[in-house]
Amino acid sequence: MQVTCKNCGSVVRVRPSHASRTKFCSMACRREFQASTHELKRHLDGMRFRCKQRKGWADRGIKCCIASTEELLNILGPKPAAGFSVDRIDVNGNYEAGNIRWATQKQQMNNRTNNIFITYDNKTLTLQEWADRTGLSKGCLHYRHLSPRWSVEEMLTTPAKKQAK
Ligand SMILES: [Zn+2]
Repeated sequence: MQVTCKNCGSVVRVRPSHASRTKFCSMACRREFQASTHELKRHLDGMRFRCKQRKGWADRGIKCCIASTEELLNILGPKPAAGFSVDRIDVNGNYEAGNIRWATQKQQMNNRTNNIFITYDNKTLTLQEWADRTGLSKGCLHYRHLSPRWSVEEMLTTPAKKQAK
């Protein structure tokens, strides 16, 4: 009988009496799979937590529609590397198949800020373009943009070091 390893996908031959019990080609694969399942569980818990606790998410109806780590794995595949987390492609959409992907912090930040346009001095540019022009970080501009204390002029012309007002 043949069994496909749940971790690496390689096909192994096993005795028929062992087929139902065998899920991995090796102990190493079993351990790797368990570690990655554990990690996926952490991400899934985080997704559920954010839907419940993040300000405004419940009001916007953002939900986690992923029922299990297996489902998450089927949709996304294993986590590509440390530093990746589950990102929603449409930031107003749910955690669900078609709207999630593995992304780094930087990609997630881009996703959230790419469609923020700011007009100043007769120019309308994205946050990134303003960051390039002003030498301020995009994170800094984003923070100021969200804070009602900053006017557009102040947010673009105040040096980063003098943030405290
Ligand atoms: Zn394997």
